[in-house]
Amino acid sequence: MKPSVVVFQSLSDEQKVRLEQHVDAFYFLDRDARRSETCQQALAQADGILTPGGYVLNESKLAGMPHLKAVSTISVGYDSYDVAALTQRRIVLTHTPGVLDDSVADLVLTLMLSTARRVVELDEWVRQGHWQKGLPVAQFGCDVHHKTLGIIGLGRIGMAVAQRAHHGFSMPILYHTRHAKPDAESRFAARQVELNELLEQSDFVVMLVPLTQETHHMIGKDQLAAMKRSAIFINAARGDVVDEQALTQALQNRAIAAAGLDVFHQEPIPLDSPLLSLKNVITLPHIGSATMQTRNAMVDLAISNLIQALTHDSLINCVNPQVQRQI
Ligand code: NAP
Repeated sequence: MKPSVVVFQSLSDEQKVRLEQHVDAFYFLDRDARRSETCQQALAQADGILTPGGYVLNESKLAGMPHLKAVSTISVGYDSYDVAALTQRRIVLTHTPGVLDDSVADLVLTLMLSTARRVVELDEWVRQGHWQKGLPVAQFGCDVHHKTLGIIGLGRIGMAVAQRAHHGFSMPILYHTRHAKPDAESRFAARQVELNELLEQSDFVVMLVPLTQETHHMIGKDQLAAMKRSAIFINAARGDVVDEQALTQALQNRAIAAAGLDVFHQEPIPLDSPLLSLKNVITLPHIGSATMQTRNAMVDLAISNLIQALTHDSLINCVNPQVQRQI
């Protein structure tokens, strides 16, 4: 008998065919379907789950999934999962690292350039008919090229950002991680520094750490106060790596110049969030990897990860390989 898999992601015909060669798939694609009794029953029988990122899986949900052996998330981040609880139940968790690096890095550069050159604010200015003569000096932006870039979390995506920034925009690179990154030091002359030194010296501070207990609110009031008043803060990691309230205050008080944010404490960001009323903030709806090609590649990889986890005895892209389940 084929393993039974609950799928929360819409798939192309080709992807369906590939998946269904190996598993019996049950699709629950919208919110109502996922909340249905039928979905709960399917989860109670499921050997596997294929889901977009952000699916919350904790002890209480796992209690209703006694047969579960593998979860394949279509994301590189897996902070919404209780990994310890999954591991304890010998459930494999796989993710999709690597295939999204270039797209997320492109988005980080987009946020750096558009905050520095005030692209969204000035687009609005033109549309509202304010463009009578030239641009008032007060609305000039700042340069990106040759400015110092501080990357907090220089992993796969951070390296793709450093590549673009150093070789494309001649930016000196500082980085903060727990371990040295010799590859970045030789390719980009990147320099590993303590967090405070990075904050004090960088013109752009980019967050690319995973959200963990250690990185939760890694940037708070004190860290924002250490940054240059002209600095621009970019968060493409997870909302909670920064204390959003402290960030809002720093932006309101112009303690830092601007922020480009792809991720938030609460997603979707509530419409009454004070961040949305600030001209020096650009907000995006968590679209780091949201290009047709990259999302498709992520789904392809997540399908391979799941098939491998459920039908073979070796694991690929596994977050908790200590499980080493023999199916
Ligand atoms: P990665 O390759 O694992 O890189 C993470 C980096 O963070 C590593 O350099 C790691 O270095 C560093 N790090 C981890 N814990 C740290 C700590 N406590 N202090 C300082 N540095 C720390 O991950 P990635 O593939 O680049 O992805 C990074 C994150 O981006 C993901 O976890 C995800 O949350 C986010 N993301 C967002 C989007 C989006 O749509 N906006 C898309 C994809 C990913 P050390 O281990 O040496 O410390």
